[in-house]
Amino acid sequence: MPDGAGGIRYPFADPPAAGQAIEVADGILWMRLPLPMALDHVNVYALDDGDGWTVVDTGFASARSKAIWQSLLHGPLAGKPVTRVIVTHHHPDHVGLAGWFVAQGAALHMPRTGWLMARMLTLDAQDRPTPETITFYERAGMAADELARRKAERPFNFADCVAPLPLGYARLREGDTIRLGGRTWDIRMGDGHAPEHATFWSRDDAVVLGGDQLLPSISANLGVYPTEPDADPVGDWIVSCERFQPLARPDHLVLGGHKLPFTGLPLRLSQMIDNHHGALDRLSAHLDQPRAAGECFMPLFKRPIGPAEYGLALVEAVAHLNHLHQTGRAIRHLRDDGAWAFSAA
Ligand SMILES: [Zn+2]
Repeated sequence: MPDGAGGIRYPFADPPAAGQAIEVADGILWMRLPLPMALDHVNVYALDDGDGWTVVDTGFASARSKAIWQSLLHGPLAGKPVTRVIVTHHHPDHVGLAGWFVAQGAALHMPRTGWLMARMLTLDAQDRPTPETITFYERAGMAADELARRKAERPFNFADCVAPLPLGYARLREGDTIRLGGRTWDIRMGDGHAPEHATFWSRDDAVVLGGDQLLPSISANLGVYPTEPDADPVGDWIVSCERFQPLARPDHLVLGGHKLPFTGLPLRLSQMIDNHHGALDRLSAHLDQPRAAGECFMPLFKRPIGPAEYGLALVEAVAHLNHLHQTGRAIRHLRDDGAWAFSAA
């Protein structure tokens, strides 16, 4: 799309290599850490505060991430300490090494819900899925072979890839401002991908730190988990996008948690809203007969889901079904196999 037409553009075509940084705005460095998943990286940023750096998001706690951070600290960040670490939301790829930075003297800034979630989940180590988790999977209609395999295995544990979080943090709050990298930023909370997800809007230039709330080219996962089985993250997400719309400008340089920095945020917000409305409409049509979450992948994702994506697909299917149910567009009943079966209302 030509300049000025409000399209989505990527001013930086290539991401930084491991251990390298790209200065994407005055005093703001973009770096990447690897993730051992289909989405194989997370973006992190360092903002120059004069006498030190503020780091935004951290990557998984792993030997590999620490080694890359060490080369960043000795390379592009050389000479100045990390005095603050800001975590946009509680997911492991963002909060993973926050405790590691705190142990080296950094102050931790997070939204309260994110801090509580991260602290709770790191302390909640399980050797086998809890009974509540098994029930959650049954209610979702998880495929029998997948359920049997998961029952017998150590589940994913937050503490496996998140460094211990010490007591004590500074709260990021909706409507507050914060000084970072020589700028004053408005703090605006999003929701849906993670509860109380922090975003930062510079008052001094057109830069936005978006975390996973403001991503280009991929849709943030909206999942329901056993911690809150009746959550409606799709509704929360759409409301958040609508609240961001009056703030968004086409020239904002959005620095997100994954993929490339981009401009064209107003269009991107509309796309994010429309994509979920489209998915909800396809799903609603698919509920012409009763179906459980595990039977709804095709209308939602429009492609087959492999084993590596199964877990994320299932929690996202539950999310969209919960939204239809809670907005009166679907009814549900408990099937003999323990699954919620949803039908269009
Ligand atoms: Zn996330």
